[in-house]
Amino acid sequence: MKILSVNCGSSSLKFKMYEMPEEKVLISGLFERIGEKGSEYTIKIDDLKYSKEVDLKNHKVAFEILVEELKKNAIIKNLSEIKGVGHRIVQGGDYFDKTVVATDDVVAKIDELATLAPLHNKAAITGINAAKEVIPKAVETVVFDTAFHQTIEPVNFLYAVPYEWYTDYKVRKYGAHGTSHKYIASRLNAILGRTNTKLITCHIGSGASVSAIRDGICIDTSMGLTPNAGLIMGTRCGDIDTSVVTYMMRKKNISADDMDTILNKQSGLLGISGVSNDSRDIEEGISKGNERCVLAQKMYVQKIIDYIAMYYFELGGVDAIAFSAGVGENSIRTRIDIMEGLKVLGIVPDYEANNVRGEEKLITTSDSKVPVYIVPTDEEIMIARDTYNLCN
Ligand code: AMP
Repeated sequence: MKILSVNCGSSSLKFKMYEMPEEKVLISGLFERIGEKGSEYTIKIDDLKYSKEVDLKNHKVAFEILVEELKKNAIIKNLSEIKGVGHRIVQGGDYFDKTVVATDDVVAKIDELATLAPLHNKAAITGINAAKEVIPKAVETVVFDTAFHQTIEPVNFLYAVPYEWYTDYKVRKYGAHGTSHKYIASRLNAILGRTNTKLITCHIGSGASVSAIRDGICIDTSMGLTPNAGLIMGTRCGDIDTSVVTYMMRKKNISADDMDTILNKQSGLLGISGVSNDSRDIEEGISKGNERCVLAQKMYVQKIIDYIAMYYFELGGVDAIAFSAGVGENSIRTRIDIMEGLKVLGIVPDYEANNVRGEEKLITTSDSKVPVYIVPTDEEIMIARDTYNLCN
């Protein structure tokens, strides 16, 4: 059965098609700058990769070209072979604790929740509608980044603000990256050979979050009402004293919208270093003796250590820790910096084993009290699995 896993941004469409239940990747690709000048797409089939510049007026055009490419590359003969299309949705609020079929009611709810993730949820709806038009017979499903975190208890999801903000406005922690944390936890459980485990999963990419997972169930996560909570990220500040916000708004006469932009797009590694949001550039800056890059890296690492330490106590110990996503899978230095900061837990880094990128691997020595792994994440396969199950 052919299942399409889709992630729509406001000007992008990332996809992977699987043969299920074998979980074989048939084709993947990315449409970029949709609705803008210079739009193009890239297709990847095994070792074959090609890009084309085309006018992508909107997401519907992108889906039409995607279908043409599927036919041209003999992935499908007829449209009816695509049985399911699974969409990644950033914000599902407290309505959705699992993947569901994208009925009109469900789409209306996603729209209602767009106040919490305006760009993401609106873009996803555009994608859902476009896919429904172009591939009308497929079962459309929606897979929520927040769903895995719905098991978190009020003691961990509430903020100490007037309780009515929660009852009347649904202000609470929702988290994000849930599909990734769930995948990483399932890999760790497979590696450990049991499911009664205490795990700390670190999804550290341009967005970054840490989760505490007991027996496969999420008990806490570092992102909050929005993704701008917890860790320092590429351009997001993460946890800060809220008074900084009101103080600076008054001092510099900054509007709420502008403050949102500053805290989400001009802060984090970029804000501190003044150089870049990309940890590769930060590492290069460090090698050239840039003091602000040194400071940015120290702050970035310290925050991850703080959250791991906090979750170690919340879980009452930990059976395994995992690093994932762009930085977690690729930054040899950041993993070492974090593990060295965790030596008090009896963690002993294996410097040689850690010298890899993008591989599932144990990176601590055999006498380490807690094993630490690199686990490359795979949100697409989780979307495909849930969609396949709903198609059945
Ligand atoms: P993601 O959001 O998961 O795609 O992660 C993107 C981020 O991963 C980039 O902005 C970089 O900071 C980081 N990254 C990717 N490759 C490397 C690398 N080789 N070394 C260090 N950081 C990397």
